[in-house]
Amino acid sequence: MQEIKIELTKNKKAKPADQSKLGFGNYYTDHMFVMNYDEGEGWHDARIVPYANLALDPAAMCLHYGQEVFEGLKAYRTPDGGIALFRPEKNMARMNLSNERLCIPQLDEAFAVEAIKKLVEVDEDWIPTAEGTSLYIRPFIIAVDPHVGVHPAHHLLFIIILSPVGAYYPEGLNPVKIYVESKYVRAVKGGMGFAKTGGNYAASLKAQDEADKAGYTQVLWLDGVERKYIEEVGTMNVFFVIDNEVITPALQGSILGGITRMSCIELLRSWGYKVTERRLSVEEVAVAAKEGRLNEAFGSGTAAVISPIGELKWDDDIMKINNGEIGPISQKLYDGLTAIQWGKAEDKFGWVNRIK
Ligand SMILES: *Cc1c(COP(=O)(O)O)cnc(C)c1O
Repeated sequence: MQEIKIELTKNKKAKPADQSKLGFGNYYTDHMFVMNYDEGEGWHDARIVPYANLALDPAAMCLHYGQEVFEGLKAYRTPDGGIALFRPEKNMARMNLSNERLCIPQLDEAFAVEAIKKLVEVDEDWIPTAEGTSLYIRPFIIAVDPHVGVHPAHHLLFIIILSPVGAYYPEGLNPVKIYVESKYVRAVKGGMGFAKTGGNYAASLKAQDEADKAGYTQVLWLDGVERKYIEEVGTMNVFFVIDNEVITPALQGSILGGITRMSCIELLRSWGYKVTERRLSVEEVAVAAKEGRLNEAFGSGTAAVISPIGELKWDDDIMKINNGEIGPISQKLYDGLTAIQWGKAEDKFGWVNRIK
């Protein structure tokens, strides 16, 4: 395994004083991890350096053609003063899936996990300690060849930055209102919907903006061909509880395979729930809502963990779910997952990767 050189900062930044006002993505720590890729040399020069601006040629390919991938995971401070990561190997495996789709060279996954652990350790005193807070970890890769011709890059950077983030729900888990998007689409089969890449987000901004103006928190994407089958919600995967069956759209190429999604499925099955991954039409959900069989709906993702859905708007059909309140399965999943993540419950599945 490569050695990671460490250069510590001489100018430590002041840490945010009030952990109840961290929000998401507002602060960055003192250091970052950087590693270069150059064709013929492979990935090299792994280093932890003071957090600083990047110097890029204005012709750098990532700025023009979007050849980039990213990941998102968190480090948690455990009650015994330790530090825990949640399934980081899964993030790095997914990053390689994204890399493959975007013609980015594969990373050594075990080494990338070590890089994350080392960086978090260096900036350990940035991990917030207040209830519900954590250190968000953002690994990403960008193509930096100074070349405005279109081709897969020969020169790239793998960077990891860290951001202390607040409790997603300072006032408890409030159900959100979701807008079912029937005009714009996010991804299609054969596209890059399954990859975690900026282009998918650029494609989603317009719909998100319109939903926001209409008073909705996020959009629910439908399939790009028929606008009929449910895919996912903004930055989250989505689950519906109908007649006591927990249903989530099957991964078929246009949906991001969430690690929270995977963990929800495994946890629910271990509790004896029937969980089905299949095609689910928005029509089926609407009919179930009318007949009083739609018990719950929720999103799943690293940032919010579980986000209960209290209302769905599909054209003129407004579906109220569970009276706009959080349902028992959503609550149980949130409690179960966060207890494992913060080291407050036994880690029966071996999901926790401790830094210390
Ligand atoms: C990251 C992401 C998710 C959630 O994945 P997790 O691994 O659970 O955080 C869902 N949908 C999209 C589009 C994403 O980018």
